[in-house]
Amino acid sequence: MGTAFDTKLDHSKPTDLAEFARERNVKYFMISYTDLLGSQRAKLVPAQAIADMQKDGAGFAGFAGGMDMTPAHSDMLAVPDPSSAIQLPWKPEVAWVASYCVMDGKSVDQAPRNTLKRLVDEAAALGIRVKTGVEPEFSFVSFDGKSLSDEHDNSKKPCYDQQALMRRFDLIREASDAMLNLGWEPYQNDHEDANGQFEMNWKYDDVLVSADKYSFFKFMIKSLAEKYGFRATFMPKPFPNLTGNGCHAHISAWDLAGKTNVFADDNSPDGLSQKGMHFLGGIMKYAATMTAIICPTVNSYKRINAPRTLSGATWAPNAVTWTGNNRTHMVRVPGPGRFELRLPDGAANPYLMQAVILAAGLKGLKEKLDPGPRSDINMYTEGHTIKDAPRLPLNLLDALRLLDEDKEFKAALGEELVNGFVKMKTAEWNSYVSHLTQWELDHTLDC
Ligand code: ADP
Ligand code: MG
Ligand code: MG
Ligand code: MG
Ligand code: MG
Repeated sequence: MGTAFDTKLDHSKPTDLAEFARERNVKYFMISYTDLLGSQRAKLVPAQAIADMQKDGAGFAGFAGGMDMTPAHSDMLAVPDPSSAIQLPWKPEVAWVASYCVMDGKSVDQAPRNTLKRLVDEAAALGIRVKTGVEPEFSFVSFDGKSLSDEHDNSKKPCYDQQALMRRFDLIREASDAMLNLGWEPYQNDHEDANGQFEMNWKYDDVLVSADKYSFFKFMIKSLAEKYGFRATFMPKPFPNLTGNGCHAHISAWDLAGKTNVFADDNSPDGLSQKGMHFLGGIMKYAATMTAIICPTVNSYKRINAPRTLSGATWAPNAVTWTGNNRTHMVRVPGPGRFELRLPDGAANPYLMQAVILAAGLKGLKEKLDPGPRSDINMYTEGHTIKDAPRLPLNLLDALRLLDEDKEFKAALGEELVNGFVKMKTAEWNSYVSHLTQWELDHTLDC
């Protein structure tokens, strides 16, 4: 099929969407917002109507649109942020644009993108700009999700499998060309550690831009997979015996000009400055608390704390520990001036994932928190020897309880948002446990 990307498209940041449409021959805008649970919801708006929508927003019923609201609430308006607009590389007559949510003339506190923006402003008040790079992992599966899209992708050690990677070249090239032309500076694509699993990497950016890019990336990969006749899933553990889909985040903080990395310190033995250590201190303190948000599904808990996979290792963490360049811990410092949080999975809300990093890290900075000593052991074989490292929650219910009980973290992330999240996710948990499984029949019929 080859690439459909038009390299002549102009991707500088727009301010006026009507003008953007005229200049690029865009016929429709997809005004999109991300709900509390991480799904993107959108209205398709003809370019002729975009000027008013840019001013007033597109109306949504929040109750139907994945927010903690009732049918009696006023309309929620998704007001597009023109700087996020992207002409769809695979369908140039349409442009996607991310939004802020507004109701009755006020910012909606439970809206994930609004929350992230508020935290970005709080960071700026402290004189810093946090930048992150995310590492999306995903699996190409059949439409019913029960098998891989590529029946020949069955090696026991499939990481970096060259043949399987090349069998997906057309799709990967299309996505990679799109990112090249969007100026995202993509730099590598590989087959990951599970059969059918891939990862694509592009350069880190400001947290809000990273969240928009990752949201768009998910939309793009799912759309392209459908075009090629299969399905892309970011589900944390679509196959119980294979390595799961994580979404690691690499984190650094810069001065307001974005010129100096304030996490870097050439003299530090661990590669992080004092500020970097405090920020990491916040992440360590709140890691178990934030797990409900970055590992947000019932299925997420088959990825973390998991037994060994067919490939020999899960690559996912099981306790709140940090280390140098060692991939068996929750936090890795791969090199000077940044650290990697390996906890988030593919189901994490792209905006809330960045928001919890900021909420925890800024508390660490303000309260000068200490991350504790680093550990250099292999956590998969020697983890039991660390007695005082907090364990990660074992299931979604435990995780939700931890989050709900943590008043400090709730205040930092936003009370209305956390309460709404916990309420909706608890309903999801209740729906899950009310489902009678084959396992129960197998283990209980003869009781
Ligand atoms: P890994 O070795 O963990 O698989 P990848 O190369 O897949 O690493 O991803 C690394 C990510 O970290 C990329 O998004 C990259 O841009 C990002 N990154 C590199 N340097 C920094 C930094 N200083 N701050 C934030 N992110 C960074
Ligand atoms: Mg209607
Ligand atoms: Mg990677
Ligand atoms: Mg990976
Ligand atoms: Mg990584």
